Amino acid sequence: MARVHNFNAGPAALPLAALERAQRELLDFEGTGMSIIEHSHRGKAFEGVHNEALSLLRELLSIPDDYHVLFLQGGASHQFAMVPLNLLPADKSADYVLTGGWSEKAYEEAGRVGAVRVAASTAEGKRFARIPKQSELSLDANAAYVHITTNNTLFGTQWHDVPETGAVPLVADMSSDFLWRPIDVRRYALIYAGAQKNIGPSGVTVVVARKDLVERGRKDIPKIFQYRTHAENNSLYNTPPTFAIYLVRNVLAIAKEQGGLAEVERKNRAKAGLLYTTLDELSGFYRAPVERESRSVMNVVFRLPTEDLEKRFVAEAAKQGMVGLAGHRVTGGIRVSLYNAVELASVEVLVNFMKDFAKQSG
Ligand SMILES: *Cc1c(COP(=O)(O)O)cnc(C)c1O
Repeated sequence: MARVHNFNAGPAALPLAALERAQRELLDFEGTGMSIIEHSHRGKAFEGVHNEALSLLRELLSIPDDYHVLFLQGGASHQFAMVPLNLLPADKSADYVLTGGWSEKAYEEAGRVGAVRVAASTAEGKRFARIPKQSELSLDANAAYVHITTNNTLFGTQWHDVPETGAVPLVADMSSDFLWRPIDVRRYALIYAGAQKNIGPSGVTVVVARKDLVERGRKDIPKIFQYRTHAENNSLYNTPPTFAIYLVRNVLAIAKEQGGLAEVERKNRAKAGLLYTTLDELSGFYRAPVERESRSVMNVVFRLPTEDLEKRFVAEAAKQGMVGLAGHRVTGGIRVSLYNAVELASVEVLVNFMKDFAKQSG
């Protein structure tokens, strides 16, 4: 069996042990004579998996009891609408910080629901090559909430400090850096993340939301869009994506077994450190456009001297078993996604290839 070095941006690499467990358990889940996919979402077998996934998540992230943890569908894009539908009343507006393509999409969608403001944007100048400083945020003290995207998957930037928003609830799209390290959940009122970057397959989205905020949410919208509905029904209002939740359970169980999020962070910093050091050493050939203090630990973007060389770089890397290196179609260039499941050994193979490629082509 030949597994590749998978640097995909999402869906992305999953821990081999999580997949192997799924393979072992696929035909006969815990002696029940059927796979977990074939079980009722209201039966004992799935209930066990679901509750284990929830409690692992609570334990790994130290989620306080006054927060709901929900497994929803529709991806992070669905949350772009669900957040304002629930939290943006007609007499208020919401603040959005624009740091990349996904935050722009979230902002546009919220604008279809109610009043929105741009609290800061780094689109001007070197397009989205940095995260704004606290002093650049023009925050509305009466805003319904402030929305940020903690990691910008396309542009390779990441917030390394949580912005101070005073009494205004902070909402964060953490799709591409959820669980990359321990965080203080209390700094956020609501966190959402599509699973397919860091914690599982596509099809399930995690929402961590303060209970009082969910309680206060609008009631004049369809029930299916209300966080309250899913909270009151332990995410079982309708049929949840059972297989996706099962795989999330497998991934979280491994994260715990391997030492929890402190260890996950140590591994992630080692991987990104190695890659950025290599880029800096070879800066005559590779160009990393992101400002140093905004560099993402999850998505590392860089350019080569020409687009032709970039194409050759991607093609030759693929021949050597490294996939998923082409940048996003709107940004071009190279993007290396270093999510939790990517091993340091894969990054070592990549940097050796980068050194050889620069020597041959530079
Ligand atoms: C991938 C991504 C999304 C979109 O996720 P979908 O599950 O495809 O809706 C949104 N925000 C960020 C930061 C992402 O990385």
